[in-house]
Amino acid sequence: MRVGVTGATGRMGREILAEASERGVDVAFAVNRGDGHGDVAGVDVEPADDFPDLLAERAPDVVVDFTGPVSSVEYVRACADAGVPVVVGTTGFSDAQLDELQSYGDDAPVLVGANFSRGIQALRQAVQSAVGSLPEYDVEVTETHHNRKRDAPSGTAKVLLDAVDDARNRDAERVHGREGDQPREEGEIGVHARRAGDVTGEHEVLLAGNDEVLELTHRAGSRGVFAAGALDAAEWLTTADAGFYRFTEVAARL
Ligand code: NAD
Repeated sequence: MRVGVTGATGRMGREILAEASERGVDVAFAVNRGDGHGDVAGVDVEPADDFPDLLAERAPDVVVDFTGPVSSVEYVRACADAGVPVVVGTTGFSDAQLDELQSYGDDAPVLVGANFSRGIQALRQAVQSAVGSLPEYDVEVTETHHNRKRDAPSGTAKVLLDAVDDARNRDAERVHGREGDQPREEGEIGVHARRAGDVTGEHEVLLAGNDEVLELTHRAGSRGVFAAGALDAAEWLTTADAGFYRFTEVAARL
């Protein structure tokens, strides 16, 4: 597999390049916005403006993107035009942006994942099972990330909220923090986003009934778990037909 990497000097881009090097995966090119980035994990990082040319000239088997929502949509559009599979780890997309990404699945395999760790996939299943067994319990979701994260709540928190809705077969009202005179309404889900220090990512789903509390928690110890999952997904995507895929749907097949 030869991979193209965007956002190569970002926190996740660096992890992807390090993981690729560890696995012996060839890097066709790596880009980041701006220029003069130098070397990351033995790969020369080139200016993002060169992306369309690099895509055509170096013909990667797959592109892995961890940047920001606006640039991600542009990269996926370019990959779809070129028929190159693309794994998107970026989070914080609007519904309209997600619809646009989905439409590019008509032209190339496009896989989107808000969290590529295996533990989060297991947490998602555990949440569905717990909520299914405890349908009347109050649910609150809390996530904690480093102080430079932009989007809130995290894409992973949204995946967990969707898991709760799926288990209950309805869309709960999501209350983002509470302030003032704001008693809890039956069935709502409180969502809490904390930003502090260099926390890689923590997610907790709390279920509470009368006299008992169940807490399901995941803590990522390093970004390496996300990079490993993203490259597993990339390998799988090189064998997939054009289409729009979510990591939650394909994780079990990797
Ligand atoms: P970061 O800010 O450290 O890195 C983003 C990088 O993308 C930066 O180097 C930035 O310069 C670059 N960039 C932005 N626009 C660009 C463009 N147009 N062309 C090329 N490069 C561009 O952020 P991060 O911590 O690496 O996270 C990136 C994204 O990945 C965020 O949306 C984050 O929430 C998400 N993320 C997802 C997972 C997952 O498992 N799916 C895990 C961690 C982070």
